[in-house]
Amino acid sequence: MPTRIAPSCIALIVAGGSGQRFGAERPKQYLDLAGKPVLRRTVEAFLDHPEVTGVRVVIDPTWRDAYDAAVAGLGLPDPVTGGASRQDSVRNGLEALAADGAPDLVLIHDAARPLIDAATIGAVIGALDSTAGAIAAVPVADTLKRGSSGAIAGTVDREGLWRAQTPQGFRFPAILEAHRAAAGLSLTDDAAVAERAGLAVALVPSKEDNFKVTTPDDLSRATRAIMSSLWDVRTGSGFDVHRFTDGDFVTLCGLRVPHDHGLEGHSDADVGLHALTDAILGALAAGDIGSHFPPTDPRWRGADSAKFLRHAADLVAERGGVIAHADVTIICERPKVGPHRAAMAERIAQILGIEVGRVSVKATTTEQLGFTGRREGIAAQAVATVRLPG
Ligand code: MG
Repeated sequence: MPTRIAPSCIALIVAGGSGQRFGAERPKQYLDLAGKPVLRRTVEAFLDHPEVTGVRVVIDPTWRDAYDAAVAGLGLPDPVTGGASRQDSVRNGLEALAADGAPDLVLIHDAARPLIDAATIGAVIGALDSTAGAIAAVPVADTLKRGSSGAIAGTVDREGLWRAQTPQGFRFPAILEAHRAAAGLSLTDDAAVAERAGLAVALVPSKEDNFKVTTPDDLSRATRAIMSSLWDVRTGSGFDVHRFTDGDFVTLCGLRVPHDHGLEGHSDADVGLHALTDAILGALAAGDIGSHFPPTDPRWRGADSAKFLRHAADLVAERGGVIAHADVTIICERPKVGPHRAAMAERIAQILGIEVGRVSVKATTTEQLGFTGRREGIAAQAVATVRLPG
């Protein structure tokens, strides 16, 4: 039997809208949705799909900086410049894909539908085995009324009616030709462009969650949907101690704090970040900092402990989770932590990629009792709360 070669399939994400209906300071696709920009969630849904070979985004270049920030680190090719209408933007995107060596299939998707699921993406791709086009859609369940001056003028038969969503998938050469032929017309979706060209387009049953984020209420609904899926809430604790040695500064919570001693350790001896790293690893039941970064490994000599903390945050992200909260307590007589607390919280939030309002840094002494009271070293304890998919 000949081996079937998987078709190349590019997801073309349409993010050209200026989102004026939303009334926010920036287009909705660049707003935060449960810790990540809407656009990043949309792009990741396709990048993570095994049958999608690449992602290209069409944007309004006015928002290039917001775009770059939203997709940082995802390794996307340069975005395509959108046009005056959605239809123009899609056509520009298709032309850009053609110029880069035309994929077999293209999935055209709204940036503002971040909750698209892998099963629907796979079903649209699968339908393209036997038809030139296939779109995600949901059957109309409500009874439909035609209105006139605020009163019912008639009941519309809903039999056979569907609400079109995206992704809308097509064999690439067919939809490119159809879009070229429809240039200058005003059609509301790509299926309409395909229909006009006489292409057969299948309806693929999708999910209500794949709604388009259009209003602030929609953004709240999407946030609730994501948060309710992260119902496995874990709390981890961490504790660390480093002893004083000669030196003129200590590294605490990522900051260099002047002091009449340094801290002894294999890495930069940042007790605060070590305790917090262990707290996050604890929440994941993923071992401790020593098992991930053995002190016997010369690579970690003098290392910036931000690297350890970021690793723990990456493990949370790999599990599809979020860090809901981090709380660090520094225990020492000196140096005084108070003046640095705000900057320490800022630095931790930056390393973790979360809002500073989710990070707490506190300090206490032990009333001159014990090893911290005798100024032999610094201790730190931390608690982290992590939300994982159930
Ligand atoms: Mg340590």
